[in-house]
Amino acid sequence: MTTLHVPPLPGPAGPASPSAAAPTAAAPTPGADLSVWPTSTTPLAHGDLAVAGVSLTGVAERFGTPAYLLDEGDVRARCRSYLRAFEGAEVLYAAKAFLCRAMAHWIAEEGLGLDVCSAGELELAVTTGFPTDRIVLHGNAKSPDDLRAALRLGVGRIVIDSASEIARLAAAVPPGSRQKVLVRVVPGIAAGGHAKIRTGTDDQKFGLSITDGSAQHAIARILGQPTLELVGLHCHLGSQITTEKPFLCAVRRLVGLMARIKDQHGVTLPELDLGGGHGIAYRPGEDALDVASLARKVRAELTESCAAAGLPVPRLVVEPGRAIVGPAGVALYRVLAVKRTAGQTFVAVDGGMSDNPRPALYGVRYAPRLIGRRSASGAEPVTVVGRHCEAGDILASDVRLPGDVRPGDLLAVPVAGAYHLSMASGYNLVGRPPVVAVADGHARLLVRRESLEDFRSRDVGL
Ligand SMILES: *Cc1c(COP(=O)(O)O)cnc(C)c1O
Repeated sequence: MTTLHVPPLPGPAGPASPSAAAPTAAAPTPGADLSVWPTSTTPLAHGDLAVAGVSLTGVAERFGTPAYLLDEGDVRARCRSYLRAFEGAEVLYAAKAFLCRAMAHWIAEEGLGLDVCSAGELELAVTTGFPTDRIVLHGNAKSPDDLRAALRLGVGRIVIDSASEIARLAAAVPPGSRQKVLVRVVPGIAAGGHAKIRTGTDDQKFGLSITDGSAQHAIARILGQPTLELVGLHCHLGSQITTEKPFLCAVRRLVGLMARIKDQHGVTLPELDLGGGHGIAYRPGEDALDVASLARKVRAELTESCAAAGLPVPRLVVEPGRAIVGPAGVALYRVLAVKRTAGQTFVAVDGGMSDNPRPALYGVRYAPRLIGRRSASGAEPVTVVGRHCEAGDILASDVRLPGDVRPGDLLAVPVAGAYHLSMASGYNLVGRPPVVAVADGHARLLVRRESLEDFRSRDVGL
């Protein structure tokens, strides 16, 4: 099977593209454009901004910095627009993008299901009251603990990712019961904002390849296990995909495999899970995937492919993570130092790669904004760096901030809701920032700041 190469658009995680970056980077009024901010964002006096009616400088004063803000209304609105766009489909939120108990609660209330990748994510959601039948367990290397927790709590479906998992899972299912499973298939499609987040090709660790027949082989083995019930095929092409074509190609390839399964085994699979990966804009002017348009085209492709193959249309499942929570989050930092060298100006803040490793991992670009005071100075090119002991601890390279930016200033970074805190670390024992929810003019603490006491309490030996 050939691989469809879809060149990544010059997006945030794409290859650095000076020409694509120019319109944003050269904007005369840095950050004046609020297009990538939560939809509730409004300007206030003195250069402040309000999200959901809550002043950002007020949040910084009350909760300290660095801090993460989550617009509850924005998260909920994104859930609803997914359900509207993908009417009749099942929408699962990918917990790995960001999970806390409040988030699980919002997702459950809005009627979405949940994708989890570990016993930790699973138990946090279930102990918050998330309905287990709406939970799907993923993972290329599920631990015995993960599988035990999934079976004990009764998750809706488990996605089989490797051949060795089949017998192990089948044996762990209590006699007399059956576990619904999907098979993660590698369709041979290269898509996604960066090589490290492309998972649809044959040269990476996830899933079972159609090309070399390992998917077909695994399916035959699963169908032979009386404790497993194969309900469908799954694929996840990657993350930060900004075009529709790879998803439509995946639909065709998965329906093709479903047709072969029907021919060979006489089994019609009722579900097709297309995964997530829907791209968002991190800076004004960047491309984002149009979810409503994607939904229409996927639906049309699915109907057409199934008709051509003589199959009933399976129930569609999608798994957005980033697109649900990314644009609803804002990171707040305090400037600690400004260093002007011969070639560059470094603006150092009180967070960094321990709360946002994405620029270091994938070279992602952000558009930070000075808040809390108006500056008469013209915009100058700066590099916003963190406080960690690595030269690669860069939060935003090649951005423009007022020339008089100085210690004590506040910087706010939009589109900070996904894959920041969920990937945060304890590096330098700085402590992970708190998460503050804003809704209807009120701010409330969801997750408190990690303290020295937290580090001490885990450190039990001497
Ligand atoms: C990461 C992941 C998702 C979500 O990806 P986003 O890019 O955040 O939408 C969905 N499904 C699976 C299996 C994943 O691994």
